[in-house]
Amino acid sequence: MSWVEGAAGSPYGTHNLPYGVFRHAGRAPRIGVRVADFVLDLDGAEAAELILAGGALRRPVLNEFMALGRAQWAAVRERIVVLLTDPGHRAAVEPLLVPLAEVELVLPFEVGDYVDFYSSEHHASNVGQILRPGQPPLLPNWRHLPIGYHGRAGTVVVSGTPVARPRGQRRGSDGPVFGPSARLDIEAEVGFVVGIPSPLGARVPVAKLAQYVFGVVLVNDWSARDIQAWEYQPLGPFLGKSFATSVSPWVVPLDALAGAWVPAPPQDPPVLDYLRDVPHLGLDLRLAVDWNGTRVSEPPFASMYWTPAQQLAHLTVNGAALRTGDLYASGTVSGPARGQVGSFLELTWGGTEPVTLADGTTRTFLVDGDTVVISATAAGPDGTTVGLGEVAGTVLPAEPD
Ligand code: CA
Repeated sequence: MSWVEGAAGSPYGTHNLPYGVFRHAGRAPRIGVRVADFVLDLDGAEAAELILAGGALRRPVLNEFMALGRAQWAAVRERIVVLLTDPGHRAAVEPLLVPLAEVELVLPFEVGDYVDFYSSEHHASNVGQILRPGQPPLLPNWRHLPIGYHGRAGTVVVSGTPVARPRGQRRGSDGPVFGPSARLDIEAEVGFVVGIPSPLGARVPVAKLAQYVFGVVLVNDWSARDIQAWEYQPLGPFLGKSFATSVSPWVVPLDALAGAWVPAPPQDPPVLDYLRDVPHLGLDLRLAVDWNGTRVSEPPFASMYWTPAQQLAHLTVNGAALRTGDLYASGTVSGPARGQVGSFLELTWGGTEPVTLADGTTRTFLVDGDTVVISATAAGPDGTTVGLGEVAGTVLPAEPD
């Protein structure tokens, strides 16, 4: 049992311990770990030699710590649990606890490369039906490989960062028109953060996920559907996505999610050997999407067709190197029901079926001033819950010309 006030029964008890980077009292950003409604200052803990990580916890981002690898991640995690549970450490550690309400959380890692997959069968088939009616909902390659694209790492922002409505080209009745997107949307996703790098030319096999991946964040892949629809052929998403991608401030270590692995949906036809993961497991993360405070969807991550291990194996099968801080996102998480979809494109069926929010207003796509919060929980050990925090963002009007 932790001596920290509120830790018992909290989704952020010592079974979770997500890492983040915070600012407090005008100081430079510091690495911390969340426990209950506090942040334990790990920079201060390493400075006081309460934890030893070769100085990696005394940096303004998590990258150097994430590059240490699984054995060190486990050792530091174990040590943090000791510090937060052994009453003998309380006097030294308690002054390093900062109330969460007093900190500003910043982007916790320097993002290397950013890849976004398209791995929900329900999402891909909904989008197929909406955009290509009368044709097979899935394209012929979809069940053979996890489809993805390279996104823009430099515009990954932390939760709470406002998102200005992008301008761009869209299809008009008489040629292209330029202006603010009229179909601004979200994509509720789960992101995997790479810890240790891999050399150019080496593949990372499906069985090595936990060796390379440090932890998990929530992702909102903001999407301008009208810009996307006009630009995406033949090379895929570009400016309709790259204006902003939001991530949650807490990186939940894979170790905290050890109890959340469940069998992933069966794959038919059988996949090629390099994609065969035995056992074939996905994470049972329960996502929720709130639109101006109204819960509009609860996407189940366990329903994803392609698993994080398969995505990582596919990402590197051509010999592409991994870098510390690489982020690969799952793709929009959508379950089989309308109340389980991860985009408003699907929720309103291409904008044809508006939803009503709690204040009585209706929506198809995002209106300036709207706030979207994506949150998630998972089952932890011994009946506990693991909180994954949230990724929030408010839409601002397009920048003036
Ligand atoms: Ca996406």
